[in-house]
Amino acid sequence: MDSYRDVCYLIHFDEPIGKSHAQHYLGFASDLHRRIAQHRASEGSSLVRSANARGISWRVVRVWRDADLDAERALKSMIPKNLCPHCNVRLSRRKARLKSMQSNQVQGRASTSH
Ligand SMILES: [Zn+2]
Repeated sequence: MDSYRDVCYLIHFDEPIGKSHAQHYLGFASDLHRRIAQHRASEGSSLVRSANARGISWRVVRVWRDADLDAERALKSMIPKNLCPHCNVRLSRRKARLKSMQSNQVQGRASTSH
């Protein structure tokens, strides 16, 4: 697929890996499909290789098209979790739950003051 040329991609691991407990891998690929095939064959990065060795499943959760090495550097300076739609879904759910708990407390306090 030509549309997957020169992209930055974010891999999410289902479990944290290694001493650093990394759960994401961000990379640049001139050909994403070939790169993913390399990762599957444990030829890409050491992080993905150890995930494969431990049987930890992973997936590409986000792709930035028309990227270059400057874009990769900019993305790598950010917190991967904030870029990951998979992690952010869970984060926003937790926030929503906290919000509803807080508003329940406020309502309860208001009703007992009568
Ligand atoms: Zn994630």
